Amino acid sequence: MSRSLVGIHAKGKIYTDKLLDTSAAAARAISQYGKEHVTNGSSGVMCDEKGALICLPTVEKTFRNIGIRELVGYAPIAGMQDYQDAAIRHTFGDYQPDGYIKSIATPGGAGAVSSVIWNYSDPGDAVLTHDWFWTPYKSMCSEIGRRLDTFTLFNESKGFNIDSFAIKVKKILDQQDRIVIVLNTPGNNPTGFTLTSVEWDAVIEVVKENAKKDNKSITLLIDIAYIDFTNDPAKVRGFMEKFNNLPDNIFITLAFSMSKSFTVYGQRTGAIIGLSSSKEVIEEFTHVTQVTGRTRWSNVNRGCMQIMSTIYNDPLLVGALQKEREDSMAMIAKRAEVFMDEASKLALDVLPYCGGFFITVPSIKSDLACEYLQRNNIFLVPLSKGIRIAVCSVPTTQVKGLAGQVFEALKNTPEK
Ligand code: PLP
Repeated sequence: MSRSLVGIHAKGKIYTDKLLDTSAAAARAISQYGKEHVTNGSSGVMCDEKGALICLPTVEKTFRNIGIRELVGYAPIAGMQDYQDAAIRHTFGDYQPDGYIKSIATPGGAGAVSSVIWNYSDPGDAVLTHDWFWTPYKSMCSEIGRRLDTFTLFNESKGFNIDSFAIKVKKILDQQDRIVIVLNTPGNNPTGFTLTSVEWDAVIEVVKENAKKDNKSITLLIDIAYIDFTNDPAKVRGFMEKFNNLPDNIFITLAFSMSKSFTVYGQRTGAIIGLSSSKEVIEEFTHVTQVTGRTRWSNVNRGCMQIMSTIYNDPLLVGALQKEREDSMAMIAKRAEVFMDEASKLALDVLPYCGGFFITVPSIKSDLACEYLQRNNIFLVPLSKGIRIAVCSVPTTQVKGLAGQVFEALKNTPEK
C-alpha cells in the first residue's frame, strides 16, 4: 500500500482471523456441495443434529415477547438494575462469595475482557494467560499497547501447570506493579480443560503470595464464557466461593457472556462482575468501567438484557431454560464422547476435554493438516499448536469418523 492515512499506532495493522476465515470457507463449501457433504467444525455456536443454529426455546419465546420500546430503547451504561442483579445471580449461582460485588454491562464477553485489560494494566505491561487461549486475547492486548504473555497450561500429566503459572506471575510482578491474569475456565477454549478445586486452591495461593507486597496488585480475570456447558454447571461454580476475603490488592473479575449461555451470540450482551473486599476498589471499578463503556460502545443492547431480566424474574422460565441447556450439553457431551473414544482407539493425542464447545488435537502441522482436511470438505480451525474441533456445531453423524479423518490428515501431512 503506497498511501497510508492512519495514525502511527494503527500503521501496518492487518486484519486476519483464522476462525472466521475457516467459517467463511465452510459456508462457501456448503453452498457448493450441500450441508450433508460438508463437516463444519469451525465455529463456536451450538448447532442441532441437522446442523442448524440453535436458539434455546425459552430464550426465543422471551425475546419475541419483548415490546418494541424495550427492544429499541437506550439503556443505562451499566445496564438496567434488574439485568445487573440477574447477571450476578447467574454468574455465582449457589456460590456467591462475601464482599462488594458490582456488575457492569458490556457487549458480550469480548467487551468484558477487553475492558478489564484496558483499565487494570498500564501501557507496555504484560498481561498473562495460558498458552492455549482464545486468540482475540492477543489482539485485545496489542491494540492498546499491552503484550500478551503466556504460561504453560498443562504439566506432564495434563493437569494445570502450577509451577509454570507461579514462575510467570512472579517474573512479571518483578518487572511491573500490576498484573492482569486471564484464566479461561471452565471449558477452556480451545481445549475444553477445566481447573479442579485443588488446582484453584493452588492458583489462589500463588496469587496471595505475590500480593504480599502492598505496592503490587493482581487482577484475576476469569473468562466464564462456557460455564453453562459443563457436566454440572451448578457445582462447577464451586470455585467462586474461594474468593472470600481476599486482600484488597487482589481484584476478582468475571467475564460473563450471554452469547453461549443464552444462545444470543450476535446480540452482543455480557457483563463484568467485579468482586472485592474493598468498597473503594468496587467504586473505582464502577466508575472506570462505565467511562470505558461510554467512550467505546456507549450502552449495551437493551432488548437482550431484558431477555435475561425477564427470565430471572420467573423461576419457571429459569427452570425451563436450565433444562434446555442440559439437553444441549448432553448432545455436545455425546459428540465429544464419540470423538474421544475414536481418538483413543487410534492413539490420537487429544488435550484433556472436561466440557465446553471445543476439543483440540495438538499438532505443530495444523495449518497443512487443516488444508488437507478442507480438500475433503472438513473445516476445522488451525491453531499455532493444534487443530480445534467445534463439537458444539458438528452433528453426531459427522463426528463419527472425524477422529480418523484428523488422524489420516496428520499422517499424510509432512513436517513443515
Ligand atoms: N471468551 C471466550 C473464550 C470465547 O471463546 C468467546 C467467544 O467465542 C468469548 C469470550 C466472547 O464471546 P462474546 O463476546 O460473543 O460474548
